[in-house]
Amino acid sequence: MKTYKLIHNLDFDVTRSVHDMAALFAYSPDRDSDTVLKVHYDGSCCQAVLYTGEKVQQSGAVTCAAGISGEITRCVKLAVLEVLTRFTGEQPRLPWGILTGVRPGKLAHKLLDGGMEPDQLPQYLLDKYLLPLQRGKLLKEICILQDKVLPYRKAVGIYIGIPYCPSKCTYCSFPSGIVPQDEESQQNFLNFIEQDIDSVVKLISMHSLNVSSLYIGGGTPTSLKEKVFARLMQCAAKKLFLPSVREFTVEAGRPDCFSAEKLRIMEDFGVSRISVNPQTLHDRTLRLIGRKHTAADFYRAYEIAAQSSIAVINTDLIVGLPGETAADIEYTLTEVAKLRPQNLTVHTLTLKKGAELFGSRPTLSALEAETVLDKGAQAAAATGMRPYYLYRQHYMLGQLANTGYALPGTESIYNIQMMEERHTVIGIGPSSATKVPLQDGHHLRKLNMPKNIATYTENLQQLAEKRRKLFEK
Ligand code: SF4
Repeated sequence: MKTYKLIHNLDFDVTRSVHDMAALFAYSPDRDSDTVLKVHYDGSCCQAVLYTGEKVQQSGAVTCAAGISGEITRCVKLAVLEVLTRFTGEQPRLPWGILTGVRPGKLAHKLLDGGMEPDQLPQYLLDKYLLPLQRGKLLKEICILQDKVLPYRKAVGIYIGIPYCPSKCTYCSFPSGIVPQDEESQQNFLNFIEQDIDSVVKLISMHSLNVSSLYIGGGTPTSLKEKVFARLMQCAAKKLFLPSVREFTVEAGRPDCFSAEKLRIMEDFGVSRISVNPQTLHDRTLRLIGRKHTAADFYRAYEIAAQSSIAVINTDLIVGLPGETAADIEYTLTEVAKLRPQNLTVHTLTLKKGAELFGSRPTLSALEAETVLDKGAQAAAATGMRPYYLYRQHYMLGQLANTGYALPGTESIYNIQMMEERHTVIGIGPSSATKVPLQDGHHLRKLNMPKNIATYTENLQQLAEKRRKLFEK
């Protein structure tokens, strides 16, 4: 294993940024390593030096422009990338250049808000961040589309997280638990969600917030028993489905806990968008990843959803599931596209530490995954969909991205609000996040609710108070 010890003279932490670059060359941090990576900033330039024993290599001096936030970090990354390229002789794949954050769209929006002409954006991102031109163009198009869909910056999104699922998917690192089978436990949990909703209702009224989207996700909210699910829907709809709400989404992702009755409940309470997710249409993969349903179950769930009054159906797919070849994924893509969902979200496999499959070797190479993702984009375009949001994650196969596609007019408002972090989002329930953008529209006040359900329920009052304070000027 290749390791390095980092030494730097910066007055802020660059460990993560350096590590992201070093990981491209399969280097891991180790404070006892004999290989030393030294990063030096002299007030205007960054330089990196790498040495081990007699072998020494250094980057050129990367000049940092003054007065731009994040500029020194950008220059550190470029210097580290250069020194490692020289030291190893390797040229790593950089599908997203040196952009390593979850939300590349945030940078693009920031540049456009700062007065950059949209047509200048792709070249700027290539020059400064080594971002391939076609991805810069994609970001430009997504930013323009998002501003059309959601021009009102004060539109608020509300998220309710139900942290239960019928079984645990082996690729999942989300802290959801298996849904308790007894109704009493489910109702008890819902008592806390109701309390949480009530404190958000007060917040909305106190600050005259304009709520534009309501999203019930998780986990899998439809894993609750019908009676409990109906109570959740009634409470959310009665208290939060305000006249200003333009979109009401329920994550009904798992076909193994979807039913005609739950669909009827969602229709009755005005749900306008649901997710029904196959992830793959291969039963052997579904078994491998711990989902207790078959492709046929997905088709059944999709069919009844398509016949309902719910206007928008989203389907999620994952590229890179264990044992799947490019041909397997293309089959799923083609078959799902034939159903003509209004939204399609193509994920790239991400195995974080909490996932059972963490550490396992992917079946697809990074290049194959990239090719399949391009085919996904083509399949979406062939049905008239456009990409409208994207995000990336650490540990993602091939450092690629997840992309949401939508038919014009069906783009999810909540997904844009959540991903671009330019709108207020209020989180209810364990693991949810409340984000309140500051005046500049690019920095946030934030509160993450605890992942642990007991910690959430035991501290709900204090947490609600902390959330309230985020809204104080
Ligand atoms: S359904 Fe979603 S949240 Fe639940 S275990 Fe599977 S991937 Fe995780």
